[in-house]
Amino acid sequence: MSAHILDGKALAASLRKQVAGECQELRAGGIEPGLAVVLVGDDPASQIYVKHKERAAHECGVSALDYRRGADISQEELLQLVHTLNADAKVHGILVQLPLPAHLDATQILDAIDPAKDVDGFHPDNIGRLAQGRPRFVAATPMGCMSLLATTGQSLAGKHAVVVGRSNIVGKPMALLLTNANATVTLCHSRTEGLAQHIARADIVVAAVGKVDAVLASWLKPGAIVIDVGMNRNAEGKLCGDVQYEEMLEHASAITPVPGGVGPMTIASLMQNVVKAARAAG
Ligand code: NDP
Repeated sequence: MSAHILDGKALAASLRKQVAGECQELRAGGIEPGLAVVLVGDDPASQIYVKHKERAAHECGVSALDYRRGADISQEELLQLVHTLNADAKVHGILVQLPLPAHLDATQILDAIDPAKDVDGFHPDNIGRLAQGRPRFVAATPMGCMSLLATTGQSLAGKHAVVVGRSNIVGKPMALLLTNANATVTLCHSRTEGLAQHIARADIVVAAVGKVDAVLASWLKPGAIVIDVGMNRNAEGKLCGDVQYEEMLEHASAITPVPGGVGPMTIASLMQNVVKAARAAG
């Protein structure tokens, strides 16, 4: 067996094109989709992520409104900025780039975002809606994973999905999305016993751990679909995911590469959320 490569780069490009068409329609109707991007401090990785998001926004016809603040901003000042953006009609989506400097309470900041502008899907209101099976904004990374899974053409109903990682931004919403799609879901984490045995029963594996070789090819059920969210550097400094990609090519029926899999889908999904927010506001 040779796995089908799930090309996130190509799918993301086509989604961005679709979003660009929708933005054009909105603009023709007098609505200019606007995304406020809040970046605090000068973390180099965050700067790169923000640059990519703003570039994608520009390409799609979304106005990226840049709010850069120094690392010494106070909690109150940042909260005030979020309140101002909540009240600004030009702003349809608000993105606060994480991580925030250690003196800031990120949870309180994210909770202050108007759930109708929470295009990252991190607000408890949006997570709660997802948990109840009536989603509004879904976190971009798991949303992108679902779009990639859809390209396999396989129904998820009744399939056994194993999600490895339970973060609020990837693992948990991913498990909820798969549950809502009628998969039978096992959610694993660092305290899980017998990870290999869980993986061996999985028709679908989603790895969101952040560790090289967290999921080994020898554990995989032949024909499983593998979505690799992880972004790591291997011993040679090369970007890689959480799974043994090369070795899995022989066992999996479909697999995402790193880079070029989930990564580009995250940004495209974010743009889909911004358009959705602009439509809802208009
Ligand atoms: P977190 O560090 O928040 O969560 C990691 C999860 O993995 C935790 O739930 C942890 O368990 C679990 N875990 C750690 N070690 C093991 C182990 N040995 N076996 C099983 N589970 C384990 O990370 P994120 O969810 O934010 O991100 C995960 C990865 O995805 C990272 O590499 C990140 O860079 C990448 N990422 C990629 C994105 C993209 O666009 N491609 C976007 C977002 C993230 P516990 O809860 O018990 O600690």
